[in-house]
Amino acid sequence: MSGWLSRWRRQRTLERRAIPEPLWQLTLARFPFLAARSADDLQALRDMTTLFLAQKEFAGARGLEVSDEMAVAIAAQACLPALKLGLEWLDGFVGIVVHEDAVVAPRQHEDEDGIVHAWDEELSGEAMSGGPVMLAWRDVEDAGASAADGYNVVVHEFAHVIDMRGGVTAGLESVDPQGERGLWVNALADEYERFADTVDSGEATFLDPYGAEALEEFFAVAAEAFFVAPAALEAEMPAVYRLLRGFFRQDPARMSP
Ligand SMILES: [Zn+2]
Repeated sequence: MSGWLSRWRRQRTLERRAIPEPLWQLTLARFPFLAARSADDLQALRDMTTLFLAQKEFAGARGLEVSDEMAVAIAAQACLPALKLGLEWLDGFVGIVVHEDAVVAPRQHEDEDGIVHAWDEELSGEAMSGGPVMLAWRDVEDAGASAADGYNVVVHEFAHVIDMRGGVTAGLESVDPQGERGLWVNALADEYERFADTVDSGEATFLDPYGAEALEEFFAVAAEAFFVAPAALEAEMPAVYRLLRGFFRQDPARMSP
């Protein structure tokens, strides 16, 4: 699309689908980590949220009605990690399926002795390559209160979306280890190993121990803390904070509204 046409379409969407002021203010009041942003960031976030809502399709599971209030709450938190990268980083999917509560997924694993272990996993969100993003509304709604623990299901799932698009944590072996990207991802992998050792030793961590599961989970869990409890993340893991600051091009620990 030519530049002027895409700018015109963008402007028309921003005007026609503008988020009503009371709804935007309600969203900021519910999620103080959004309200803490500078006026410039908030304007950019509001615009990006409007464009996101115009592009994505929300569906409620099992008859759940997705209200405007719910859609704006999800969209604004989803856009936060993409704020300085650009909305195209969230292009990898269209659908967002909202469940009332966590979804129980049956899991199976066959160990080396051929014994099959089966268990139920409780999912409050899931992002699959090209597929819809699934979110449990109960966890989305709690995001204001759970921010103190560095927990945010929307940021977690959209960090996965960004990761899948950019191949952020994939292809560790294929990158030039001395190149800019190679140095970055290897530094993140070192931090991940250290974190996994700490979790293994049974020591308490600020970051959700789920991040020890795999490098991509470490990236997603660290992104949650980076956006909703940046000071706590920076205090416990300054190197991780610096790596994410470089990647997301944001410095949330030094924000003043
Ligand atoms: Zn995850």
